[in-house]
Amino acid sequence: MSDSSPDKPTSPNFDAALDFRSGWSYSEAPESSDYIELDENYGHYIDGRFVQPSKGRYLESINPATEKSLAKIADGTGEDVDAAVKAAGKAFKSKWSGLPGRERGKYIYRIARMIQEYARELAVLESMDGGKPIRESRDVDIPLTAAHFFYYAGWADKLEYAFPGRKAEPLGVCGQIIPWNFPMLMLAWKIAPALATGNTVVLKPAETTSLTALRFAEICSDAGLPDGVINIVTGAGQTGSNLVNHPDIDKIAFTGSTEVGKIIQKSLAGSGKRYTLELGGKGANIIFEDAAIEQAVEGVINAIFFNQGHVCCAGSRLLVQESIADLFISRLKDRMETLIVGDPLDKNTDIGAINSKAQYDRILNYLEIGVEEGAAIYQTQAELPKSGYFCRPTLFTDVGQSNRIVNEEIFGPVLTIQTFRTPDEAVEKANNTPYGLSGGVWTDKGSKIFQTGRALRAGVIWSNTFNKFDPTSPFGGYKESGVGREGGLHGLYPYVHLTS
Ligand code: NAD
Repeated sequence: MSDSSPDKPTSPNFDAALDFRSGWSYSEAPESSDYIELDENYGHYIDGRFVQPSKGRYLESINPATEKSLAKIADGTGEDVDAAVKAAGKAFKSKWSGLPGRERGKYIYRIARMIQEYARELAVLESMDGGKPIRESRDVDIPLTAAHFFYYAGWADKLEYAFPGRKAEPLGVCGQIIPWNFPMLMLAWKIAPALATGNTVVLKPAETTSLTALRFAEICSDAGLPDGVINIVTGAGQTGSNLVNHPDIDKIAFTGSTEVGKIIQKSLAGSGKRYTLELGGKGANIIFEDAAIEQAVEGVINAIFFNQGHVCCAGSRLLVQESIADLFISRLKDRMETLIVGDPLDKNTDIGAINSKAQYDRILNYLEIGVEEGAAIYQTQAELPKSGYFCRPTLFTDVGQSNRIVNEEIFGPVLTIQTFRTPDEAVEKANNTPYGLSGGVWTDKGSKIFQTGRALRAGVIWSNTFNKFDPTSPFGGYKESGVGREGGLHGLYPYVHLTS
């Protein structure tokens, strides 16, 4: 006798729930890197030319996915920084500051178009040097980099509309220091508004990710940008410090850790130099019980696992309403299990390599701290490559406000989860941090978005989405996340003197 009954469909898939943990297999889809030609050694780019470092010292630039050296980059000394600042000063006085805005705009447009032209090469190089998945460097980093140059090219001849009734004068030579998590994008955030407003630049990229900045220098040369307008000096913290303390710098734009930001702020005090500081974060992502759960799960994945969690505005603290917490965490774990960790150049990869050995060790240390603090750790079963610095997507539950993993920026694919009962409790917990860079609110109710958004002390708040960036939108922090804004019209202010 057949066991089919009227209540039970005979479809063979009836009992087959989606089993995310079975591990769907994807064929490899590697992006070619054969055409990337790297020199053995790179000098600094000063006054329109590549020059060797004054002391002849170099640092290795390591591919974090293979642990092999890609090239050597110059380790900048005080003399190198001085040469770059002098070149930038000369270019400022003799050429760039006197050019009409529409002429400056033409150069910036040209640079933007060339970034688009070399987009594939830049994306591959960014992934090799920094470890980020090619999907992200190809679809996010490089398109946004070009978009920033296009956007600020548009402002170059319209400053009178940006500052109606006032005259905007450039400041002079800008020293710009950037981190390793978005090397090209941070370069664009810094260089595009500085050029649009008539300033010249000495930029120091991060020591682990300088190769795309050096490729960008070649693009500037090919674009015919006058010598000395952009100078790139590579090196580590000491090189950055030499730049900050150079007497002929007029403005410092720094993006990096709060720890280094504080050192820079102290050394600039009383110097008369202008500065903006874009620092660390520990963003809260708040999920209310009326949120669309599947969308919110996807949003949480994007908030913390995008770019291996090396994102200053990452939603690294999840606050989920108690009534849906069990369901939400179970769905989140299911989705996490589908994340592919591996070769950054494979187009299927969701989570690439941790940027450096130092950052890898730092993350592992935080995982130990979390366990020692009594939190419950959950890591996916993702298969990891045999070499390279890779970390499984991780979450911690059973955590409290006083845990170090809840308070300190880990800067890796590690999420902490707390629950709340009322909107006030969510806001109280979200704001209980020295940082104030980002936040997220997930709910079906517009009024709740506005009420919660207004109460959060953070520079950027996303609702029903996360980690969305646009050149027209200002970005920056409160509290220990920094001072000043980059992006949008606001991003022009730090680069001008306004006179009436
Ligand atoms: P970091 O502070 O160690 O280094 C940042 C840059 O500063 C590097 O180029 C480094 O060589 C240089 N530097 C180091 N010591 C210096 C000194 N004493 N003087 C001058 N320069 C010095 O930070 P990191 O580890 O490269 O980057 C990660 C940090 O950056 C995280 O805290 C992250 O949140 C932050 N970040 C912030 C934003 C933002 O917009 N708020 C964006 C990206 C990254």
